[in-house]
Amino acid sequence: MWCRIFKRADLHCHTNCSDGSLTPTELILKAKERALFGLSITDHDTIKAYPEAIVAAQQQGIALGSGVEFSCHYKKMPVHILGYDFLLDSRHIDILTTQHQTRRLLRNRAILEKLAQKGMKIEERELVEAHKGKSVGRPHIADLLVKKGYVSTIREAFHLYLGEGKSCYEMGVEFSLSEAIETIHRAEGKVFLAHPHLLASTVHTKAILDLPFDGIECHYALFSKESAAKWLKIAEERKLLISGGSDFHGEAKPQIELGCSFVGQEQFDLIFHEPLVK
Ligand code: AMP
Ligand code: ZN
Ligand code: FE
Ligand code: FE
Repeated sequence: MWCRIFKRADLHCHTNCSDGSLTPTELILKAKERALFGLSITDHDTIKAYPEAIVAAQQQGIALGSGVEFSCHYKKMPVHILGYDFLLDSRHIDILTTQHQTRRLLRNRAILEKLAQKGMKIEERELVEAHKGKSVGRPHIADLLVKKGYVSTIREAFHLYLGEGKSCYEMGVEFSLSEAIETIHRAEGKVFLAHPHLLASTVHTKAILDLPFDGIECHYALFSKESAAKWLKIAEERKLLISGGSDFHGEAKPQIELGCSFVGQEQFDLIFHEPLVK
């Protein structure tokens, strides 16, 4: 019943341009099927989904705002941020996404070396060829580990080897949170702290929130209303905008359905002054 009452927009989802399983067109069709009015696609460190997604959104009558999820660090702690409503053709965004692809390439190489030392052989060429043109990361490596029979599930691959602090984990080059925020602002976008519920440590939370964020992702995935309450209060106190989304990845995270977390029309309009598709 709830899905009929509220107008919903999912502002956090991934396509197969990063580690989601659906193409941009399939994702827009899924949004239509799930009766969403709007979407922002937030692939990891890439905006490649947009040319195709814009056409599909126009055809399906789905409102679409620009989005991206950048993997940054604060004092070596991973922090994800969401950029919204930025200019898609901004050279600042182009430079940052290109730098991130190099970071990913080097980091993946280091992870493959660690796996090889444990007798799990994946050639870099195999990884690159299996996922040409994508923003490649740990889920793609996990998938190959499953296909080669080294582990039985992606979950197990993360649990045993690829998760933070596990034996084959590599952080990669540290990307400054402040610089990424500045880059999105230069591209005339807004910056949100992504899934603060998942920050590994609360030691730096205040310092992180003191950075020039425009908003906080208060509604996230399957987290309850109660867990959103804390972040909604912080957003209100700091006069920040509120975003929400599922972090849908398709088959890669089958328990998370598109639109299970969302914002309404009012919040969508506050975030997207220049939607790509209205
Ligand atoms: P990367 O971008 O290479 O650091 O990989 C991060 C992505 O891995 C996240 O966005 C999730 O999609 C996925 N991931 C992280 N932890 C797990 C896990 N325990 N099980 C499955 N997927 C995970
Ligand atoms: Zn992901
Ligand atoms: Fe994230
Ligand atoms: Fe995400």
